[in-house]
Amino acid sequence: MLREYIAGECDKYVVLLLRDYGKMTIRAKGAKRPKSKFQAITAPLDCAEFVIYQGNGFLALAGGSDIYHFDKIRGDYDKLCYAAYVLEMTERTIMEGEDCGGILDLLMRTLNVIERGNITLRLVRIIYEFKFLRINGYSPHIDDCAACGGELLGEVFFFEYGTACEKCRQGVALGETALYALSRILEDDNPFNFEIDETAANELRAAADLFIKAHNELELKSTQFLV
Ligand SMILES: [Zn+2]
Repeated sequence: MLREYIAGECDKYVVLLLRDYGKMTIRAKGAKRPKSKFQAITAPLDCAEFVIYQGNGFLALAGGSDIYHFDKIRGDYDKLCYAAYVLEMTERTIMEGEDCGGILDLLMRTLNVIERGNITLRLVRIIYEFKFLRINGYSPHIDDCAACGGELLGEVFFFEYGTACEKCRQGVALGETALYALSRILEDDNPFNFEIDETAANELRAAADLFIKAHNELELKSTQFLV
């Protein structure tokens, strides 16, 4: 469950990301009432099996059974801010009905890592962003200079298409650790398993900002709450 919209006094619309049907906006009648049977499955971060029916011109929630609630994220303000960002990015980028298998897997994996808290939230965000853009067709070129094709000797930079050599000097500087971490993020299927020092994290943050700005024009409200 990605997002809710209040509709009238008692109802709400919920935006769901469904394994078999992609993103769908569903009406949940009476879901705002305290004793609603939809209480456990219609808040952002709820994971559930949903039963949906075709109403008169709209899709409506008939019922469902809850699977998981990410309670350790809900109880921690910083984790909640990062989770809200990941949910908003997913919700705003995906179109209704679009195939979303890869995005759903990445979303679940990211939320699990945020909840467990074994790597810093800043690094989780960086990994998530590069993986998310990759699924959406944008992956930086990092084997050699993406500007001139030359070898990466000496200082390395990163710009909107990938790495740049010392001669081309485009974008932001990437040290050895940051460059290694980036290749790991791009190549590893599940790279949420390492940590980097603050300098490398700052360099990768700058690189991710640049890459996201070039390939995803969304202004996300949740970004302002990230530390
Ligand atoms: Zn070059």
